[in-house]
Amino acid sequence: MLFSSDPEWDKSYPPVSGNTVTVFLIDGLSGSLFESEMKAGRLPVLRSMMATGTYVKNGICSFPTMTGYGYYPFITGKDATESGILGLRWFDRSRQGGNFRNYVGRTNLNMNDDITDTIRNVFEMSQPHYTASINTFMNKGVAHNIKTGWSHTTAKYEGRGIFRWLRAVPVLGRYMAPDHFEHETNAMDLALRQLAKNPRVHWVTFPSPDAANHVFGTTAMYTGLLHHIDSLIGVYISETRRLGQQQTRMIAVVSDHGISDVDDNLDFSKWLAAETGLLTERGKSVHILSPELDAPLSDYDGFDGFFVINGNLAGYLYMKDPLQPSHTAWRHNLPPELLEAYPTARGTINLPEVLSKNPKLELVISRGKSGRISIRNGPENLAEIDMDAAGRILYHPVCGNPLLYPETVHDTFLSKSEWLDKTLDSEFPYAIVRIWQLMSKPGIGDVVLTSRKGVDLAYDYEMFVGNYKGGHGGLRREILSVPFIYSIPGGKPGVLNGMTNERMGEIIIRHLNERPE
Ligand SMILES: [Zn+2]
Repeated sequence: MLFSSDPEWDKSYPPVSGNTVTVFLIDGLSGSLFESEMKAGRLPVLRSMMATGTYVKNGICSFPTMTGYGYYPFITGKDATESGILGLRWFDRSRQGGNFRNYVGRTNLNMNDDITDTIRNVFEMSQPHYTASINTFMNKGVAHNIKTGWSHTTAKYEGRGIFRWLRAVPVLGRYMAPDHFEHETNAMDLALRQLAKNPRVHWVTFPSPDAANHVFGTTAMYTGLLHHIDSLIGVYISETRRLGQQQTRMIAVVSDHGISDVDDNLDFSKWLAAETGLLTERGKSVHILSPELDAPLSDYDGFDGFFVINGNLAGYLYMKDPLQPSHTAWRHNLPPELLEAYPTARGTINLPEVLSKNPKLELVISRGKSGRISIRNGPENLAEIDMDAAGRILYHPVCGNPLLYPETVHDTFLSKSEWLDKTLDSEFPYAIVRIWQLMSKPGIGDVVLTSRKGVDLAYDYEMFVGNYKGGHGGLRREILSVPFIYSIPGGKPGVLNGMTNERMGEIIIRHLNERPE
């Protein structure tokens, strides 16, 4: 048997006497489908968690709204841009080689290596106690890490007794890819074995809703998977009680991002070449041959820029400095003066402005003058954002209103929590803060792009399927806002309108550090 030979099962750890936590991450949870399925009574376990715990209607994700990267705030209490990486894919100008950091495929192990050592996560904080994770590679310091992947879908694990616990799930087997259902069931089986060892921190990812949405869009399979996951969480909670852990174990159900269906796939590099003559290398989607990231910078000598895709609805454009010799040309971010007067064979262009004229792109974000950030939404809308010494952020529309924010928040410095409050119901909730956090990191591209609704930025990009039917990565509300539900032993029920994912991480850490009642 595959996992019975895993020596981790037999390893012993000092017993945990204090509080414990389990985080269930439903990858790619649609807020609107969650709500409608909940109302229809098809998520009974989550509903009963809501009745006794806290329901956060708008949990705010990291930007880019990405798998793995977006898990970081839950395990650290810090925004994901503090992690040292900037998504599942980014371009690190500071390296000698391997500049394109791509954690998709065999190179996923590089993620934990690239993450900063200066912030400790809940796995590291819990050492030397037993901690466990299922299907995440954002788990630096975890004691027991299991990844079932897709190849194990049909594997038969020991102790299939989980089926005893499952109430009738009417959707099982009725859809095109029942393997997603079996895969989640098998992963839960392993999670229950880990639970029996009373992990101080237990992280369980349900990857299938995200995977199903990418390939098929929002179909009946997607909602079927939500019902299935609901019942698996129910099995886990029953087991927590059976093991007598309910007095100490906090349970959080969270997500890394929502989903957005697409029916149009843009070949960005091809479009840019036709429009401007500029050649950009599109960083490839997945590394299957080698876990190494070591391509030399000279590989990109023939290109003017490097285009990085995240979640397929967001992209980073890193431009080469055309005024520098090739060995230093990629080394630094371009000053806004150069980006807005970029020399091409066809003459000088204002690059962000040219990009804003592509009707398939929504937000075009770049560094502006005097440390400000420029946000364009089509050629008619431009705003600048700025931060004062107190950390308050300003939204200053130059023309139009790219983030569609109400006039009451224009031209006034507001704190992060005020921005959360005042933009929760908008099309881009809290996006202004997420944009500032990302753009103030030196490793970010010269231009950050998001696609319009229904468009993705990755024409013919994916292995096997070529074009995706759904994605994430951008800042629209259906991908930036997701539900969170958490229940703390002895806690009171409540409903919150909005909360950031880093705040959720703080609550998890606080629970771990409190003495049980
Ligand atoms: Zn995800």
